[in-house]
Amino acid sequence: MTNRAVIYSRYSSSGQNDQSIETQIDICTKYATTHNLVIVHTYTDRGLTGTNANRPGFQNMIEDSYLKRFDYVLVYKFDRFARDEYDDIHYEKILNDNGVKRLSATEVIPDDYFSAALIKAVTRLNNEQYSRILSERVNAGLDKNVEKGLMVGGSITWGYKMINKKYIIDETISTYVVTIFRMYSEGLTALEIIHYLTKNGIYNANGKPFMMQHIMKILRNKRYIGIFTYKHMEHPNFVPAIIDDTLYDSVQERLKKAKNRRRNRSPVEYHLTGKLFCGLCGKPMAGYSGTGKSGRKFHYYRCKCEKKNEPKDRLENLVVKITVDQVANSPHLDEWIDHSIKVYSDNFQSVDLMIKHVQTEIRKTKNQINNMMEAIKQGILTPSTKSELISLEDKLTLLNNELSVKESLKPAVLSHEDMKAWFKQAKKMDNKDIIDALVKKVIVYDDKIDISFYLSNRSVSLDIPHAHQFYI
Ligand SMILES: [Zn+2]
Repeated sequence: MTNRAVIYSRYSSSGQNDQSIETQIDICTKYATTHNLVIVHTYTDRGLTGTNANRPGFQNMIEDSYLKRFDYVLVYKFDRFARDEYDDIHYEKILNDNGVKRLSATEVIPDDYFSAALIKAVTRLNNEQYSRILSERVNAGLDKNVEKGLMVGGSITWGYKMINKKYIIDETISTYVVTIFRMYSEGLTALEIIHYLTKNGIYNANGKPFMMQHIMKILRNKRYIGIFTYKHMEHPNFVPAIIDDTLYDSVQERLKKAKNRRRNRSPVEYHLTGKLFCGLCGKPMAGYSGTGKSGRKFHYYRCKCEKKNEPKDRLENLVVKITVDQVANSPHLDEWIDHSIKVYSDNFQSVDLMIKHVQTEIRKTKNQINNMMEAIKQGILTPSTKSELISLEDKLTLLNNELSVKESLKPAVLSHEDMKAWFKQAKKMDNKDIIDALVKKVIVYDDKIDISFYLSNRSVSLDIPHAHQFYI
């Protein structure tokens, strides 16, 4: 068996806590070593967002997959691959056709759909738990800084600069912050403000043109009136204010009105988007709404070919009922759960590996400190010994922090009962959760429906009039 692999790494500048390209490659390389893979090439995309269609590294990797020079694409996390479910299916198919499998150095193997659904659902629950534990730990260290009136964590707000951990107004930029607030309070739209800024060569903190979400974030940011929010608590006069309260309040008033207008339009979510395909022509079917003669709104999935429209709720309900029946009530459920638990724990070995690595570093650093102390005792104390000792102690602190972060990544132990409980709730969950976690693909014909599931790695094909009779 050949084990040629390439690494694909992407750093997204939008994700604040994203791992650097170097860390991603490092983690992937370690995974390759322990899994007997030979890395033949590395592709990278730097500073692009996942939604950016122009990912040259990714496109090169896809093109090279046709040459059949590698068998695996290794990523740090699966979210490196796709912008959405449709993209995911699309590129997965190309890679599969070219005999290339996708691997993640930190998550479950994707072609093991047998277990992917459970892991997805359970990790989602766990992730919430981890981030809570993590933030508790981090906060413990930050509390002291807040007490001292020092800025903690996060990036520096546009319009300020940081000197000795204190926020200072950056006069060259703060005038633009005021301009943005004024323009919005005077009735200009965010889009008009963006035009104005771009035309005048004013860019965001990353040197890029402003986008809608940047402007919205600026307009809502309480730091501009001096408030620092920490653990849901507001600390007023924490930073110097750039905007006065009256101007800030008038902007919030307008934002609230705009939000209410949007809420009244209540967007409908099409849960099957990206998973639903037309049985006649094979193309993805998209959500669509129209207004009937009576003025009532109708929601459909439709295809551009001659296939008839599928009423949204009716189709989604049918898919969910079939899914719950096929998966949750299967006599094989216990088997699937046991298998899933095995896959789940196997795949977190890489976290253990990372923890071991940090522990080794901690041991080494402690030894170095001890040696240094010994030297001091013997009277070999020079100014450079002292500064070296301080930097070693700093390093040790950083390593200990890293260790606690890595340990918090360790998943909770999953029990058979936990998993079964998840299934027992399946009937009570809303359509979105079930479709997200369990349904891989739906192909709908005018009279027939094919559904494939992540969990059982199999599919059902049912005659629609029959299915409606049986399931509803
Ligand atoms: Zn069609």
